[in-house]
Amino acid sequence: MTDEAAERKMQFLYTLRTRGVTDKATLTAMEKIDRGPFVRGIFAGRAYEDTPLPIDCGQTISQPSIVGLMTQALDVQRRDKVLEVGTGSGYQAAVLSQIARRVYTIDRHARLVQEARKLFEAMNLSNITAIHGDGSHGLPDQAPFDRILVTAAAEDPPGPLLAQLKIGGIMVLPVGQSDTVQSLIRVRRTETGLDYDELSPVRFVPLVGGLARE
Ligand code: SAM
Repeated sequence: MTDEAAERKMQFLYTLRTRGVTDKATLTAMEKIDRGPFVRGIFAGRAYEDTPLPIDCGQTISQPSIVGLMTQALDVQRRDKVLEVGTGSGYQAAVLSQIARRVYTIDRHARLVQEARKLFEAMNLSNITAIHGDGSHGLPDQAPFDRILVTAAAEDPPGPLLAQLKIGGIMVLPVGQSDTVQSLIRVRRTETGLDYDELSPVRFVPLVGGLARE
């Protein structure tokens, strides 16, 4: 690593810590996964800024500190099977893959799924499976999941996703109208039902039903 790259990484991790990402497993995962390859074209030079950036298909790669806060709120354990809804660039799935046993990630844009698969292969991230589909139905073939992370905002937590969460499982997702500030919420499935807590205001693109054209 060049001095410049090392300095950039230190700054990146420092920013995450100052914005509340303190969980060691999350920071280690984000130290290992370089955000650079997940940002392309004219925005490539801004990959290490703590900001969301445009990606193909009119979507966005999330802000790194939000990726960190969502990952730490999910409290992923080594043996966990995780579902991510909203592959986008693949960055969040790559971060999760450093902590979880297996990650399934699903996006309604075939092109984003193809591009993410190429990156996962190039980075040797063999515990990620990227699927083209409507994630609002979850992934019944692989359910139940220990953890579910949704990276697009729904008005309410989708019923199929709640149903695919194991007892003791955790789901983290943005909830609210797409054109306003939403709330990041955490849902835990207990023996007796579901516990909800509200974590922070966030802003995500909407969770859209059905498959996209490209
Ligand atoms: N996690 C991504 C990353 O690390 O780059 C960022 C995700 S981006 C903010 C939201 C993604 O959710 C978009 O790629 C969009 O296509 C996807 N999406 C929206 N509705 C969906 C649905 N019903 N099923 C699957 N993906 C969906």
